[in-house]
Amino acid sequence: MTLESPALYVVPTPLGNLADLTRRAEEVLRAVPWVAAEDTRHSGPLLKQLGSSARLLPAHQHNEHEAAARIVERLQAGDSVALVSDAGTPGISDPGARVVAAVRAAGGRVVPLPGPCAATTALSASGLGDEHFLFYGFLPSKGGQRRQALEALREHPYALVFYEAPHRVLETVADLAAVFGGERTLVVARELTKLFETVHSLPLAEAGAWLQADANRQRGEFVLIVSGAPEGVDDGEGERVLKLLLDDGLPVKQAAKLAAAITGAAKNALYQRALALKS
Ligand code: SAM
Repeated sequence: MTLESPALYVVPTPLGNLADLTRRAEEVLRAVPWVAAEDTRHSGPLLKQLGSSARLLPAHQHNEHEAAARIVERLQAGDSVALVSDAGTPGISDPGARVVAAVRAAGGRVVPLPGPCAATTALSASGLGDEHFLFYGFLPSKGGQRRQALEALREHPYALVFYEAPHRVLETVADLAAVFGGERTLVVARELTKLFETVHSLPLAEAGAWLQADANRQRGEFVLIVSGAPEGVDDGEGERVLKLLLDDGLPVKQAAKLAAAITGAAKNALYQRALALKS
């Protein structure tokens, strides 16, 4: 690959399965003279494996300002730089935003590469019918602040996407159920692209017991997705119309959408109900 004018390439790396590195990412990591990495010890072996002779620059949470200045200098000297984080897409609950902003502010070119991201990977397998989602990332680690953050999201109609660490997953799921109520759907996406990958969907009321039923279910890396807040209350009319539409042969998603529009009942709840009726 020949690099054109000097640029900062934002390069996503695999979440676990090395085969998920895109061909373009591989080409960029081989062609650039510099790779700015969240953890050089982590990214060094990847570069070695690719046969890349790029030199590493540390660019982590605690030196991002300084790293940004060094990267801008490299670009101004005519060298391209690739930016990587430990896993997934830089700048998504990972360092990167400051570096990108500094390069842009200095008039530099930023080239984003599409690639692995835990949030979109989990969403693609969630099966939730929500048309929109809100990416939240990590909730506060302290219980009181976490519940306060969740209260602010309680009525939000979009599916909510959270990142969580294994040692906090039980308490976070308990808070999700306490604040959002037990009926909303939770999707637990664990160890994506790895050996013990699990994507499990269940009502929030059952989630704590499910996680506790097997200690392995609390291990690894987690994306938690909660279906959006119901838009309206169904007095039975929503389900009646839904059944009519399904009997008429409409697909599940369309039937739920129409039944919600006609009756004002919650589209999400109708979608889940339609899935249950179909199975
Ligand atoms: N930049 C990354 C991305 O694009 O997804 C996210 C980095 S953030 C520091 C790490 C968090 O992402 C983990 O705590 C977990 O919530 C989520 N994550 C990363 N890899 C994952 C995987 N293989 N399975 C499930 N969640 C994962």
